[in-house]
Amino acid sequence: MPELPEMEIVARRLAPALSGEKIESVLAPGINAVKTFDPPLQALDQGQFTGVRRRGKVLLFDVESAALGPLTLLVHLMSAGRMQLLDKRASMRDRTSRLLIRLPEGRELRVREFGTRQAAWVKLLRPEDVESEDSLATLGPEAWPDPPEFSTLLDAPRPLHNLLRDQRVIAGIGRTWADEILHAALLSPFKRGNDLSPEEASVLRDATIAELGRVLQVYEEKVQLPLPEKFPKPVRVHAEQGKPCPRCETVLEGVFYEDYVMTYCPECQTEGKVLKDRRLSRLLK
Ligand SMILES: [Zn+2]
Repeated sequence: MPELPEMEIVARRLAPALSGEKIESVLAPGINAVKTFDPPLQALDQGQFTGVRRRGKVLLFDVESAALGPLTLLVHLMSAGRMQLLDKRASMRDRTSRLLIRLPEGRELRVREFGTRQAAWVKLLRPEDVESEDSLATLGPEAWPDPPEFSTLLDAPRPLHNLLRDQRVIAGIGRTWADEILHAALLSPFKRGNDLSPEEASVLRDATIAELGRVLQVYEEKVQLPLPEKFPKPVRVHAEQGKPCPRCETVLEGVFYEDYVMTYCPECQTEGKVLKDRRLSRLLK
């Protein structure tokens, strides 16, 4: 679930709160989410936060390590991770804990993950290794606030819903906001990127900037520290299948995949066509 707007507001809230803050110790309990071993996580002990940044859906924490100088901690929450800055430390029995960064006065920066799958990850890197880290090195341009022209960016024979969520093509969009952006742009999720007219490409780019900006504005008003476990969801269509389209009141349709749903308005986006439900068509085979 965390996409660009969620990670952007997390970075905006954490940056002023953490800058200059001393790290007492760092723990990675339970299933190990830490994907690097050199430098060791313990290099952060007694270090000091110098900044918090975001690239795509990845958070970057800059730390001045007592032993090793500048280091960067990368955190990717994937679909079920959460990050909070809390006044109390986690119980060691809390099985959702993935990373606990202990701060003075009993406070704690905590990465938790809900659900059965473990996917959230953490990497500790030296500054010279940050740009070449796999997920950052392959990242496309940021989807917000000023992505490049979409006619070139999305020029591929792949469905728009797929292209928009491909981090190598454009960084920061996931399932939720892809649905909202395509609905706002009046475009079918299955239209192919290389079938976009120049006008459509321009409308889609504008819709991307506007939708991500709209969501971020809601978060600016509603999301405060310690940061919520559940974010407000200012959606108009995503996962709202069966309800009326907020624009034309046609019933919204959903295409169900194994672990998510893609929602669209047949009237606004697919010329009245109801697209095949993948789940249902597989069952009927
Ligand atoms: Zn509609």
